[in-house]
Amino acid sequence: MTELETAVNKRRTFAIISHPDAGKTTITEQMLLFGGVVREAGTVKGRKTGKFATSDWMEIEKKRGISVTSSVMQFDYEGKRINILDTPGHEDFSEDTYRTLMAVDSAVMVIDSAKGIEPQTKKLFQICKMRGIPIFTFLNKLDRDGREPLDLLAEIEDVLGIETYPMNWPIGMGKGLKGLYDIYNKRVALYKPQGNHAYLDLDENGDIASDEPLHQDSQWQDTLDEVELVQSAGNELSEDKIMSGDLTPVFFGSALANFGVETFLQSYMQFAPAPTPHKTRDESVIKPTDDVFSGFVFKIQANMNPNHRDRIAFVRICSGEFKRGMDVTLERDQKSMRLSNSTQFMAEERENVETAVAGDIIGLYDTGNFQIGDTIYTGKNDFQFEKLPQFTPELFVHVTAKNVMKQKSFHKGIQQLVQEGAIQMFRSYSSNDYILGAVGQLQFEVFQFRMQNEYNSDVLMETMGNKIARWIDPEQLDERMASSRNLLVKDREDQPLFLFENQFAENWFQQKYPDVKLTSRL
Ligand code: GDP
Repeated sequence: MTELETAVNKRRTFAIISHPDAGKTTITEQMLLFGGVVREAGTVKGRKTGKFATSDWMEIEKKRGISVTSSVMQFDYEGKRINILDTPGHEDFSEDTYRTLMAVDSAVMVIDSAKGIEPQTKKLFQICKMRGIPIFTFLNKLDRDGREPLDLLAEIEDVLGIETYPMNWPIGMGKGLKGLYDIYNKRVALYKPQGNHAYLDLDENGDIASDEPLHQDSQWQDTLDEVELVQSAGNELSEDKIMSGDLTPVFFGSALANFGVETFLQSYMQFAPAPTPHKTRDESVIKPTDDVFSGFVFKIQANMNPNHRDRIAFVRICSGEFKRGMDVTLERDQKSMRLSNSTQFMAEERENVETAVAGDIIGLYDTGNFQIGDTIYTGKNDFQFEKLPQFTPELFVHVTAKNVMKQKSFHKGIQQLVQEGAIQMFRSYSSNDYILGAVGQLQFEVFQFRMQNEYNSDVLMETMGNKIARWIDPEQLDERMASSRNLLVKDREDQPLFLFENQFAENWFQQKYPDVKLTSRL
């Protein structure tokens, strides 16, 4: 194996998807601890709690207002180099959250076992599913009373349309939590509320020695019965199905009690794929171990400090090796550029990165050269990675310039921010109004701020609220189909779509025009 191959094969790049409060931060912190990265609890959410370590980079981030601290966390674990990409939720939910999933090779889905599948998990899951990447499930908060394990598996299968395979099974839950029956590793993990979880071996019948106290527990027999049931009636563990995203291995545990997390991480690392090949627009394939360096921009984070206009373009390296100071071609305009100001994402400190390989993420300081989806590469072969998908926005605003005399900067700003991928723009058929669409409120706030700071344009935004966006085949469109409850607009590429007031309005429309096909983006 070449040095590059060895380095690339060590990489495991993934994201954790979940609904707010399911425990993503807690489990991330546990993983960092296993990786030997000692952090004060709460630092993953540092921006929220205001607890920053005082490394220089973070000082810079703080001063400049660019928070990239938890965007990518890199650490070594059992011979692998792990990159965890953050998928911001809460008030930070935006298209960037979706796009981050374009840059990973697999995903971990964390679900609160008392709540089951929640809306944000479902949305993020669907993007992973579309990409066909492996998805591993952690059913969290087992130390609290949650729903029946069988019920949770059934819900995952029904609501998400993916097969499940339980890697372990709870022995009780909540106050009655005794441990985990580790089906995959053939052992029992005993739960001790104070930590120090211990293991018991299983005999050839899948039982434990009869003199173990747990053996006397009525819970034990129930667990054996349930395990037998899921083993005989459930799905088989198939590595192929895991790899194609058709089956998700499911782990129960408690992130807070650090119970089941290390076993989860170990098993996950056994299956999680190394960097996978990426397709180009002309259907050829770029292998991660190819000699030429290549990558694509999946996120641009703008500086919110008016004194510093720089931004950071996040690049997923798809092939070869990055070396600081190297010259690359920006495919879109065939411009050559030198990548001298780059940053890599260590778990705690940010350093100027010297080298990185396929699978890694680098951040490039950018003064306005990059757009989301851009391909960069070295070598003579000109290619572009597949287009990043357009997502279905859910929130809409009407936008106008506060000062009518400043139309020029208003138009320029909107055009550039839309091109960069910060927000989606639509035009109304009837009035030619500008309508902006986003998946999270934050996108509007960033837009407004950047319009003012970068383009000196004060904007007025009038909220239109939540809408259901559905595209319609232009051949089937009759403008008279539009009404106040289904606004007709066109997207950047002049494709027509309706913004439905609510689900009722969409159903009503479909009943009235049964032959019209309505489609969503992702
Ligand atoms: P995130 O929003 O998904 O990042 O969720 P957090 O990791 O911040 O967790 C949300 C809340 O749930 C916090 O109060 C955590 O302490 C708590 N929590 C996380 N994991 C567990 C768990 O396994 N058991 C219990 N009881 N609480 C947990």
